[in-house]
Amino acid sequence: MQSSGNLQYRVIVGMEIHIHLATESKMFCPCPNRFGDEPNSNVCPVCLGSPGVLPVMNRRAVEYALRTALALKCEIAAFTKWDRKNYYYPDLPKNYQISQYDLPLAQHGVMEIPVDGQLKTVRIRRLHLEEDAAKLLHEGLVAASHVDLNRAGTPLMEIVTEPDLASADEAHAFGSELRSLVRYLGVSEANMQQGQMRLEPNVNLAIVRDGQEYRTPIAEVKNLGSLRALQRAVEFEVQRQLDEFERTGATMQMGNKSTRGWDEGRGATVLQREKEEAHDYRYFPDPDLAPVTPEPVWIEQVRSELPELPVHRRRRFVEQFGFSEKDVGTVVDDRATADLFERALAAGAPVRNLANQFISFWAMHANQRGVPIAELPVPAERMATLAAMVEQGTVNATTAAAIAEKMLAEDTDPQAIAERENLVQVSDSSEIEKLVDEVLAANPQAVADASSEGKKQKKAFGFLTGQVMQKSRGQANPKIVNELLQKKLRSS
Ligand code: ZN
Ligand code: MN
Repeated sequence: MQSSGNLQYRVIVGMEIHIHLATESKMFCPCPNRFGDEPNSNVCPVCLGSPGVLPVMNRRAVEYALRTALALKCEIAAFTKWDRKNYYYPDLPKNYQISQYDLPLAQHGVMEIPVDGQLKTVRIRRLHLEEDAAKLLHEGLVAASHVDLNRAGTPLMEIVTEPDLASADEAHAFGSELRSLVRYLGVSEANMQQGQMRLEPNVNLAIVRDGQEYRTPIAEVKNLGSLRALQRAVEFEVQRQLDEFERTGATMQMGNKSTRGWDEGRGATVLQREKEEAHDYRYFPDPDLAPVTPEPVWIEQVRSELPELPVHRRRRFVEQFGFSEKDVGTVVDDRATADLFERALAAGAPVRNLANQFISFWAMHANQRGVPIAELPVPAERMATLAAMVEQGTVNATTAAAIAEKMLAEDTDPQAIAERENLVQVSDSSEIEKLVDEVLAANPQAVADASSEGKKQKKAFGFLTGQVMQKSRGQANPKIVNELLQKKLRSS
Protein backbone atom coordinates (compact mmCIF):
# COMPACT_ATOMS: atom_id res chain seq x y z
CA MET A 1 0.00 0.00 0.00
CA GLN A 2 1.17 3.48 -0.84
CA SER A 3 -0.42 6.61 0.46
CA SER A 4 -1.45 9.99 -0.87
CA GLY A 5 -3.00 12.46 1.58
CA ASN A 6 -5.46 10.47 3.69
CA LEU A 7 -5.82 7.76 1.02
CA GLN A 8 -4.08 4.43 0.93
CA TYR A 9 -3.84 2.81 -2.47
CA ARG A 10 -2.47 -0.08 -4.47
CA VAL A 11 -1.68 0.02 -8.20
CA ILE A 12 -3.14 -2.72 -10.42
CA VAL A 13 -1.75 -3.22 -13.92
CA GLY A 14 -2.46 -5.90 -16.51
CA MET A 15 -0.79 -5.89 -19.90
CA GLU A 16 -1.79 -6.61 -23.47
CA ILE A 17 1.15 -6.91 -25.82
CA HIS A 18 1.20 -7.27 -29.60
CA ILE A 19 4.37 -8.71 -31.12
CA HIS A 20 5.25 -9.13 -34.81
CA LEU A 21 6.54 -12.58 -35.59
CA ALA A 22 9.75 -12.76 -37.62
CA THR A 23 8.45 -15.09 -40.32
CA GLU A 24 9.52 -14.87 -43.97
CA SER A 25 5.98 -14.38 -45.23
CA LYS A 26 2.71 -12.94 -43.96
CA MET A 27 0.10 -14.72 -41.84
CA PHE A 28 -2.27 -15.86 -44.58
CA CYS A 29 -0.54 -15.10 -47.91
CA PRO A 30 2.94 -15.54 -49.45
CA CYS A 31 3.82 -11.80 -49.44
CA PRO A 32 7.18 -10.98 -47.82
CA ASN A 33 6.94 -9.94 -44.17
CA ARG A 34 9.52 -7.16 -44.28
CA PHE A 35 9.85 -3.73 -42.72
CA GLY A 36 11.07 -0.71 -44.65
CA ASP A 37 10.26 -1.74 -48.24
CA GLU A 38 8.69 0.63 -50.77
CA PRO A 39 5.13 1.31 -49.49
CA ASN A 40 2.42 -0.93 -50.97
CA SER A 41 4.94 -3.18 -52.73
CA ASN A 42 4.44 -6.33 -50.61
CA VAL A 43 0.77 -6.89 -51.33
CA CYS A 44 -1.45 -9.43 -53.09
CA PRO A 45 -5.20 -10.03 -53.52
CA VAL A 46 -5.37 -11.87 -50.17
CA CYS A 47 -3.92 -9.13 -47.98
CA LEU A 48 -5.66 -6.48 -50.08
CA GLY A 49 -8.97 -8.15 -49.30
CA SER A 50 -10.09 -8.75 -52.88
CA PRO A 51 -13.28 -10.76 -53.22
CA GLY A 52 -13.07 -14.49 -53.85
CA VAL A 53 -9.56 -15.07 -52.46
CA LEU A 54 -8.70 -17.73 -49.91
CA PRO A 55 -6.27 -17.25 -47.00
CA VAL A 56 -3.79 -20.03 -46.20
CA MET A 57 -2.36 -20.29 -42.67
CA ASN A 58 1.40 -19.78 -42.17
CA ARG A 59 2.49 -22.84 -40.17
CA ARG A 60 5.75 -21.18 -39.08
CA ALA A 61 3.80 -18.37 -37.40
CA VAL A 62 1.83 -20.96 -35.44
CA GLU A 63 5.08 -22.67 -34.47
CA TYR A 64 6.55 -19.36 -33.20
CA ALA A 65 3.43 -18.65 -31.14
CA LEU A 66 3.55 -22.20 -29.82
CA ARG A 67 7.22 -21.79 -28.85
CA THR A 68 6.41 -18.61 -26.93
CA ALA A 69 3.38 -20.20 -25.27
CA LEU A 70 5.46 -23.18 -24.12
CA ALA A 71 8.21 -20.89 -22.78
CA LEU A 72 5.44 -19.18 -20.78
CA LYS A 73 4.26 -22.59 -19.50
CA CYS A 74 0.83 -22.15 -21.09
CA GLU A 75 -1.67 -24.91 -21.73
CA ILE A 76 -1.91 -25.44 -25.48
CA ALA A 77 -5.40 -25.80 -26.92
CA ALA A 78 -6.09 -29.15 -28.55
CA PHE A 79 -8.52 -27.34 -30.85
CA THR A 80 -8.34 -23.70 -31.84
CA LYS A 81 -9.92 -21.70 -34.64
CA TRP A 82 -9.87 -18.39 -36.48
CA ASP A 83 -12.48 -15.69 -36.04
CA ARG A 84 -13.33 -12.55 -37.91
CA LYS A 85 -13.35 -9.37 -35.86
CA ASN A 86 -15.50 -6.98 -37.87
CA TYR A 87 -14.98 -3.26 -37.96
CA TYR A 88 -14.34 -0.52 -40.48
CA TYR A 89 -11.13 1.45 -40.52
CA PRO A 90 -9.02 2.74 -43.42
CA ASP A 91 -6.10 0.50 -42.39
CA LEU A 92 -8.21 -2.64 -42.73
CA PRO A 93 -9.05 -3.39 -46.37
CA LYS A 94 -11.12 -6.52 -45.65
CA ASN A 95 -13.26 -4.71 -43.02
CA TYR A 96 -12.42 -7.51 -40.63
CA GLN A 97 -9.29 -8.72 -38.87
CA ILE A 98 -8.61 -12.45 -38.64
CA SER A 99 -7.99 -13.18 -34.96
CA GLN A 100 -8.78 -15.78 -32.32
CA TYR A 101 -11.68 -14.99 -30.04
CA ASP A 102 -13.05 -17.60 -27.65
CA LEU A 103 -10.58 -20.42 -28.34
CA PRO A 104 -7.07 -18.95 -28.21
CA LEU A 105 -4.03 -21.05 -29.07
CA ALA A 106 -2.81 -21.00 -25.46
CA GLN A 107 -3.96 -20.02 -21.96
CA HIS A 108 -3.02 -20.05 -18.27
CA GLY A 109 0.73 -19.50 -18.34
CA VAL A 110 3.23 -17.72 -16.12
CA MET A 111 6.17 -15.45 -16.67
CA GLU A 112 8.90 -14.67 -14.15
CA ILE A 113 10.28 -11.15 -14.02
CA PRO A 114 13.05 -9.64 -11.89
CA VAL A 115 11.71 -7.26 -9.23
CA ASP A 116 14.06 -5.91 -6.52
CA GLY A 117 16.53 -8.75 -6.99
CA GLN A 118 13.80 -11.41 -6.65
CA LEU A 119 11.72 -13.24 -9.22
CA LYS A 120 8.07 -12.28 -9.39
CA THR A 121 5.53 -14.48 -11.16
CA VAL A 122 3.06 -12.80 -13.50
CA ARG A 123 0.15 -14.93 -14.70
CA ILE A 124 -0.51 -15.09 -18.43
CA ARG A 125 -4.22 -15.17 -19.23
CA ARG A 126 -4.00 -16.02 -22.92
CA LEU A 127 -1.84 -15.99 -26.02
CA HIS A 128 -3.32 -15.95 -29.50
CA LEU A 129 -2.46 -15.25 -33.11
CA GLU A 130 -3.93 -12.70 -35.47
CA GLU A 131 -2.94 -10.52 -38.40
CA ASP A 132 -1.80 -6.91 -38.17
CA ALA A 133 -3.59 -4.08 -39.96
CA ALA A 134 -1.95 -1.74 -42.46
CA LYS A 135 -0.12 1.38 -41.41
CA LEU A 136 -1.58 4.85 -41.66
CA LEU A 137 0.86 7.68 -42.20
CA HIS A 138 -0.25 11.17 -41.28
CA GLU A 139 2.65 13.02 -42.84
CA GLY A 140 3.80 14.36 -46.17
CA LEU A 141 3.37 17.55 -48.13
CA VAL A 142 -0.40 17.50 -48.50
CA ALA A 143 -2.81 17.51 -45.59
CA ALA A 144 -3.90 13.91 -46.08
CA SER A 145 -3.37 10.47 -44.59
CA HIS A 146 -1.62 7.75 -46.54
CA VAL A 147 -1.94 4.03 -46.12
CA ASP A 148 0.91 1.52 -46.48
CA LEU A 149 -0.57 -1.93 -46.92
CA ASN A 150 2.77 -3.75 -46.56
CA ARG A 151 2.00 -4.31 -42.89
CA ALA A 152 -1.51 -5.68 -43.54
CA GLY A 153 -1.48 -9.39 -42.77
CA THR A 154 1.76 -9.41 -40.73
CA PRO A 155 1.67 -12.30 -38.22
CA LEU A 156 0.88 -10.81 -34.85
CA MET A 157 1.01 -12.57 -31.49
CA GLU A 158 -1.13 -11.10 -28.73
CA ILE A 159 -0.31 -11.86 -25.09
CA VAL A 160 -2.64 -10.84 -22.25
CA THR A 161 -1.60 -11.02 -18.60
CA GLU A 162 -3.67 -11.11 -15.44
CA PRO A 163 -3.54 -7.80 -13.50
CA ASP A 164 -0.54 -8.91 -11.44
CA LEU A 165 1.77 -5.91 -11.86
CA ALA A 166 1.80 -3.47 -8.97
CA SER A 167 3.68 -0.42 -10.26
CA ALA A 168 5.04 1.40 -13.28
CA ASP A 169 8.45 -0.15 -12.52
CA GLU A 170 6.99 -3.64 -12.61
CA ALA A 171 5.21 -2.91 -15.89
CA HIS A 172 8.54 -1.74 -17.30
CA ALA A 173 10.33 -4.85 -16.00
CA PHE A 174 7.67 -7.04 -17.58
CA GLY A 175 7.97 -5.33 -20.97
CA SER A 176 11.74 -5.55 -20.88
CA GLU A 177 11.73 -9.23 -19.88
CA LEU A 178 9.19 -10.16 -22.54
CA ARG A 179 11.28 -8.40 -25.19
CA SER A 180 14.36 -10.40 -24.09
CA LEU A 181 12.32 -13.59 -24.08
CA VAL A 182 10.96 -13.35 -27.63
CA ARG A 183 14.42 -12.42 -28.89
CA TYR A 184 15.89 -15.45 -27.10
CA LEU A 185 13.24 -17.65 -28.63
CA GLY A 186 14.05 -16.24 -32.06
CA VAL A 187 10.38 -15.50 -32.75
CA SER A 188 10.65 -11.72 -33.05
CA GLU A 189 13.27 -9.00 -33.22
CA ALA A 190 10.86 -6.97 -31.08
CA ASN A 191 12.25 -3.73 -32.47
CA MET A 192 10.05 -1.13 -30.84
CA GLN A 193 11.05 1.74 -33.13
CA GLN A 194 9.70 -0.36 -36.00
CA GLY A 195 6.46 -1.09 -34.16
CA GLN A 196 7.30 -4.78 -33.77
CA MET A 197 6.29 -4.76 -30.14
CA ARG A 198 3.42 -2.58 -28.86
CA LEU A 199 2.38 -2.34 -25.25
CA GLU A 200 -1.03 -1.63 -23.75
CA PRO A 201 -1.29 -1.39 -19.96
CA ASN A 202 -4.70 -1.63 -18.25
CA VAL A 203 -4.41 0.48 -15.13
CA ASN A 204 -6.57 1.08 -12.10
CA LEU A 205 -6.25 1.54 -8.35
CA ALA A 206 -7.59 -0.12 -5.23
CA ILE A 207 -8.09 2.76 -2.80
CA VAL A 208 -8.81 2.44 0.90
CA ARG A 209 -10.64 5.32 2.59
CA ASP A 210 -12.16 5.08 6.06
CA GLY A 211 -11.65 1.32 6.07
CA GLN A 212 -13.59 0.88 2.83
CA GLU A 213 -12.00 -0.30 -0.45
CA TYR A 214 -12.88 1.32 -3.76
CA ARG A 215 -11.71 0.49 -7.29
CA THR A 216 -11.18 3.25 -9.84
CA PRO A 217 -12.39 2.67 -13.43
CA ILE A 218 -9.87 0.80 -15.60
CA ALA A 219 -8.06 2.83 -18.25
CA GLU A 220 -6.40 1.04 -21.13
CA VAL A 221 -3.57 3.03 -22.69
CA LYS A 222 -3.24 2.02 -26.36
CA ASN A 223 -0.25 1.35 -28.52
CA LEU A 224 2.80 2.38 -26.51
CA GLY A 225 5.93 2.13 -28.60
CA SER A 226 8.68 2.18 -26.00
CA LEU A 227 9.38 0.92 -22.49
CA ARG A 228 9.90 4.49 -21.34
CA ALA A 229 6.48 5.53 -22.65
CA LEU A 230 4.99 2.52 -20.83
CA GLN A 231 6.58 3.57 -17.56
CA ARG A 232 5.55 7.20 -17.90
CA ALA A 233 2.00 6.36 -19.01
CA VAL A 234 1.41 4.12 -15.98
CA GLU A 235 2.88 6.74 -13.64
CA PHE A 236 0.64 9.37 -15.21
CA GLU A 237 -2.48 7.18 -14.90
CA VAL A 238 -1.84 6.48 -11.21
CA GLN A 239 -1.73 10.19 -10.45
CA ARG A 240 -4.66 11.02 -12.73
CA GLN A 241 -6.87 8.34 -11.19
CA LEU A 242 -5.97 9.44 -7.65
CA ASP A 243 -6.87 13.01 -8.51
CA GLU A 244 -10.10 11.99 -10.19
CA PHE A 245 -11.14 9.82 -7.26
CA GLU A 246 -10.53 12.66 -4.84
CA ARG A 247 -12.46 15.05 -7.04
CA THR A 248 -15.43 12.92 -8.09
CA GLY A 249 -15.32 9.71 -6.04
CA ALA A 250 -16.00 7.80 -9.28
CA THR A 251 -15.53 4.07 -8.94
CA MET A 252 -15.56 1.15 -11.33
CA GLN A 253 -19.01 0.16 -12.57
CA MET A 254 -19.88 -2.52 -15.06
CA GLY A 255 -18.34 -1.56 -18.36
CA ASN A 256 -17.00 1.88 -17.54
CA LYS A 257 -13.56 1.03 -18.82
CA SER A 258 -12.03 3.69 -21.05
CA THR A 259 -9.45 3.73 -23.79
CA ARG A 260 -6.77 6.39 -23.71
CA GLY A 261 -3.92 7.42 -25.98
CA TRP A 262 -0.45 8.57 -24.99
CA ASP A 263 0.66 12.07 -25.89
CA GLU A 264 4.45 11.88 -25.78
CA GLY A 265 4.94 15.64 -26.07
CA ARG A 266 2.66 16.50 -23.16
CA GLY A 267 3.60 13.40 -21.19
CA ALA A 268 -0.11 12.71 -20.63
CA THR A 269 -2.78 10.16 -21.50
CA VAL A 270 -5.78 11.44 -23.44
CA LEU A 271 -9.30 10.00 -23.47
CA GLN A 272 -10.11 8.31 -26.80
CA ARG A 273 -13.38 6.52 -26.14
CA GLU A 274 -15.40 4.77 -23.50
CA LYS A 275 -14.77 1.07 -23.99
CA GLU A 276 -16.58 -0.77 -26.72
CA GLU A 277 -17.83 -4.28 -25.92
CA ALA A 278 -16.70 -7.49 -27.61
CA HIS A 279 -20.16 -7.97 -29.15
CA ASP A 280 -19.71 -4.71 -31.05
CA TYR A 281 -17.24 -6.58 -33.27
CA ARG A 282 -19.69 -9.33 -34.28
CA TYR A 283 -17.01 -12.01 -33.97
CA PHE A 284 -17.75 -15.19 -35.91
CA PRO A 285 -15.64 -18.15 -37.08
CA ASP A 286 -13.84 -17.52 -40.37
CA PRO A 287 -15.45 -19.89 -42.89
CA ASP A 288 -12.35 -19.82 -45.13
CA LEU A 289 -9.89 -21.24 -42.59
CA ALA A 290 -9.74 -24.71 -41.08
CA PRO A 291 -9.48 -25.03 -37.29
CA VAL A 292 -6.00 -25.67 -35.91
CA THR A 293 -5.33 -28.82 -33.89
CA PRO A 294 -1.63 -28.85 -32.90
CA GLU A 295 -0.47 -32.47 -32.79
CA PRO A 296 1.02 -33.54 -29.41
CA VAL A 297 4.18 -34.76 -31.18
CA TRP A 298 4.71 -31.31 -32.65
CA ILE A 299 4.13 -29.63 -29.28
CA GLU A 300 6.66 -31.93 -27.59
CA GLN A 301 9.17 -31.32 -30.37
CA VAL A 302 8.90 -27.54 -29.92
CA ARG A 303 9.04 -27.88 -26.13
CA SER A 304 12.21 -29.98 -26.30
CA GLU A 305 13.97 -27.26 -28.30
CA LEU A 306 13.32 -24.43 -25.82
CA PRO A 307 16.48 -22.61 -24.65
CA GLU A 308 17.27 -21.61 -21.07
CA LEU A 309 15.18 -18.46 -20.56
CA PRO A 310 17.03 -15.15 -20.15
CA VAL A 311 15.65 -14.53 -16.66
CA HIS A 312 17.15 -17.84 -15.49
CA ARG A 313 20.36 -17.47 -17.43
CA ARG A 314 20.98 -14.05 -15.89
CA ARG A 315 20.56 -15.54 -12.42
CA ARG A 316 22.89 -18.43 -13.24
CA PHE A 317 25.57 -16.09 -14.60
CA VAL A 318 25.42 -14.08 -11.36
CA GLU A 319 25.62 -17.14 -9.12
CA GLN A 320 27.97 -19.31 -11.16
CA PHE A 321 30.30 -16.77 -12.79
CA GLY A 322 30.20 -13.89 -10.30
CA PHE A 323 28.64 -11.21 -12.51
CA SER A 324 27.07 -8.24 -10.73
CA GLU A 325 23.35 -7.61 -11.24
CA LYS A 326 24.29 -4.40 -13.00
CA ASP A 327 26.67 -6.00 -15.52
CA VAL A 328 25.06 -9.35 -16.20
CA GLY A 329 22.69 -8.00 -18.84
CA THR A 330 25.65 -6.88 -20.98
CA VAL A 331 26.47 -10.54 -21.58
CA VAL A 332 23.14 -12.33 -21.18
CA ASP A 333 20.63 -10.04 -22.92
CA ASP A 334 21.85 -11.23 -26.30
CA ARG A 335 21.60 -15.00 -26.56
CA ALA A 336 24.48 -15.41 -29.03
CA THR A 337 26.74 -13.32 -26.76
CA ALA A 338 25.93 -15.47 -23.73
CA ASP A 339 26.63 -18.56 -25.88
CA LEU A 340 29.95 -17.03 -26.95
CA PHE A 341 30.88 -16.42 -23.33
CA GLU A 342 30.16 -20.04 -22.45
CA ARG A 343 32.12 -21.28 -25.47
CA ALA A 344 35.13 -19.22 -24.39
CA LEU A 345 34.85 -20.74 -20.91
CA ALA A 346 34.69 -24.21 -22.42
CA ALA A 347 37.85 -23.34 -24.37
CA GLY A 348 39.61 -22.83 -21.04
CA ALA A 349 39.21 -19.12 -20.31
CA PRO A 350 39.60 -18.10 -16.65
CA VAL A 351 36.14 -16.88 -15.68
CA ARG A 352 36.95 -13.66 -13.82
CA ASN A 353 39.27 -12.22 -16.45
CA LEU A 354 36.95 -13.29 -19.25
CA ALA A 355 34.00 -11.59 -17.53
CA ASN A 356 36.06 -8.44 -17.01
CA GLN A 357 37.06 -8.32 -20.65
CA PHE A 358 33.48 -8.88 -21.83
CA ILE A 359 32.01 -6.06 -19.75
CA SER A 360 34.89 -3.70 -20.46
CA PHE A 361 36.52 -3.62 -23.87
CA TRP A 362 34.51 -6.23 -25.80
CA ALA A 363 31.25 -4.49 -24.81
CA MET A 364 32.76 -1.11 -25.69
CA HIS A 365 33.82 -2.20 -29.18
CA ALA A 366 30.45 -3.87 -29.78
CA ASN A 367 28.67 -0.67 -28.73
CA GLN A 368 30.81 1.44 -31.02
CA ARG A 369 29.91 -0.82 -33.93
CA GLY A 370 26.25 -1.05 -32.95
CA VAL A 371 26.33 -4.86 -32.83
CA PRO A 372 26.20 -7.45 -30.05
CA ILE A 373 29.55 -8.78 -28.76
CA ALA A 374 28.84 -12.05 -30.56
CA GLU A 375 29.11 -10.26 -33.90
CA LEU A 376 32.62 -8.92 -33.31
CA PRO A 377 35.03 -10.68 -35.71
CA VAL A 378 36.87 -12.54 -32.92
CA PRO A 379 36.30 -16.24 -32.21
CA ALA A 380 35.68 -17.61 -28.71
CA GLU A 381 39.04 -19.41 -28.60
CA ARG A 382 41.02 -16.18 -29.08
CA MET A 383 38.93 -14.37 -26.47
CA ALA A 384 39.77 -17.27 -24.15
CA THR A 385 43.48 -16.97 -24.92
CA LEU A 386 43.51 -13.24 -24.21
CA ALA A 387 41.78 -13.75 -20.85
CA ALA A 388 44.29 -16.49 -19.98
CA MET A 389 47.23 -14.22 -20.86
CA VAL A 390 46.15 -11.74 -18.18
CA GLU A 391 45.49 -14.55 -15.71
CA GLN A 392 49.01 -15.93 -16.23
CA GLY A 393 50.64 -12.50 -16.06
CA THR A 394 51.83 -12.58 -19.68
CA VAL A 395 50.26 -9.16 -20.18
CA ASN A 396 48.47 -6.77 -17.85
CA ALA A 397 44.86 -5.63 -18.24
CA THR A 398 45.76 -2.39 -20.02
CA THR A 399 47.93 -4.17 -22.56
CA ALA A 400 45.16 -6.74 -23.09
CA ALA A 401 42.82 -3.92 -24.12
CA ALA A 402 45.39 -2.73 -26.66
CA ILE A 403 45.80 -6.26 -28.03
CA ALA A 404 42.00 -6.62 -28.31
CA GLU A 405 41.91 -3.58 -30.53
CA LYS A 406 44.49 -5.16 -32.86
CA MET A 407 42.57 -8.47 -32.84
CA LEU A 408 39.56 -6.64 -34.26
CA ALA A 409 41.64 -5.19 -37.08
CA GLU A 410 43.46 -8.37 -38.10
CA ASP A 411 42.95 -12.09 -38.05
CA THR A 412 45.74 -12.91 -35.60
CA ASP A 413 46.14 -14.78 -32.33
CA PRO A 414 46.61 -12.50 -29.27
CA GLN A 415 49.76 -14.33 -28.19
CA ALA A 416 51.33 -13.70 -31.59
CA ILE A 417 50.35 -10.02 -31.45
CA ALA A 418 51.86 -9.63 -27.98
CA GLU A 419 55.17 -11.18 -29.10
CA ARG A 420 55.35 -9.27 -32.36
CA GLU A 421 54.61 -5.93 -30.68
CA ASN A 422 56.94 -6.69 -27.81
CA LEU A 423 54.11 -6.43 -25.31
CA VAL A 424 54.83 -9.52 -23.27
CA GLN A 425 55.12 -8.63 -19.62
CA VAL A 426 58.44 -9.39 -17.94
CA SER A 427 57.84 -11.72 -15.02
CA ASP A 428 61.41 -12.97 -14.81
CA SER A 429 62.51 -11.85 -11.32
CA SER A 430 66.22 -11.70 -12.09
CA GLU A 431 65.63 -9.38 -15.03
CA ILE A 432 63.41 -7.14 -12.93
CA GLU A 433 65.83 -7.26 -10.03
CA LYS A 434 68.53 -5.77 -12.23
CA LEU A 435 66.28 -2.83 -13.05
CA VAL A 436 65.33 -2.37 -9.39
CA ASP A 437 69.01 -2.26 -8.37
CA GLU A 438 69.77 0.33 -11.03
CA VAL A 439 66.86 2.55 -9.92
CA LEU A 440 67.78 2.26 -6.22
CA ALA A 441 71.42 3.17 -6.96
CA ALA A 442 70.43 6.20 -9.03
CA ASN A 443 67.95 7.65 -6.48
CA PRO A 444 69.50 7.74 -2.97
CA GLN A 445 67.18 10.49 -1.70
CA ALA A 446 64.06 8.58 -2.73
CA VAL A 447 65.49 5.46 -1.13
CA ALA A 448 65.99 7.35 2.14
CA ASP A 449 62.44 8.75 1.99
CA ALA A 450 60.99 5.38 1.10
CA SER A 451 62.62 3.90 4.17
CA SER A 452 61.03 6.56 6.41
CA GLU A 453 57.37 6.72 7.38
CA GLY A 454 54.10 8.45 6.49
CA LYS A 455 53.14 10.41 3.41
CA LYS A 456 56.70 10.92 2.28
CA GLN A 457 57.33 7.19 2.33
CA LYS A 458 54.31 6.46 0.15
CA LYS A 459 55.24 9.10 -2.37
CA ALA A 460 58.84 7.93 -2.64
CA PHE A 461 57.79 4.30 -3.02
CA GLY A 462 55.42 5.27 -5.81
CA PHE A 463 58.19 7.22 -7.50
CA LEU A 464 60.60 4.28 -7.39
CA THR A 465 57.94 1.91 -8.72
CA GLY A 466 57.30 4.32 -11.57
CA GLN A 467 61.02 4.48 -12.38
CA VAL A 468 61.30 0.70 -12.62
CA MET A 469 58.19 0.43 -14.79
CA GLN A 470 59.53 3.14 -17.05
CA LYS A 471 62.88 1.41 -17.41
CA SER A 472 61.05 -1.79 -18.42
CA ARG A 473 58.96 0.24 -20.91
CA GLY A 474 55.85 -0.77 -19.02
CA GLN A 475 56.50 -4.45 -19.41
CA ALA A 476 57.60 -5.44 -15.93
CA ASN A 477 55.03 -7.37 -13.96
CA PRO A 478 53.91 -4.72 -11.41
CA LYS A 479 53.32 -7.31 -8.72
CA ILE A 480 56.92 -8.54 -8.91
CA VAL A 481 58.32 -4.98 -9.02
CA ASN A 482 56.39 -4.19 -5.87
CA GLU A 483 57.60 -7.28 -4.03
CA LEU A 484 61.25 -6.75 -5.00
CA LEU A 485 61.22 -3.07 -4.06
CA GLN A 486 59.78 -3.80 -0.64
CA LYS A 487 62.27 -6.54 -0.01
CA LYS A 488 65.28 -4.44 -1.06
CA LEU A 489 64.15 -1.37 0.91
CA ARG A 490 63.71 -3.44 4.05
CA SER A 491 67.24 -4.80 3.77
CA SER A 492 68.90 -1.52 2.77
ZN1 ZN B 1 -0.40 -10.69 -49.51
MN1 MN C 1 -5.17 -7.74 -30.83
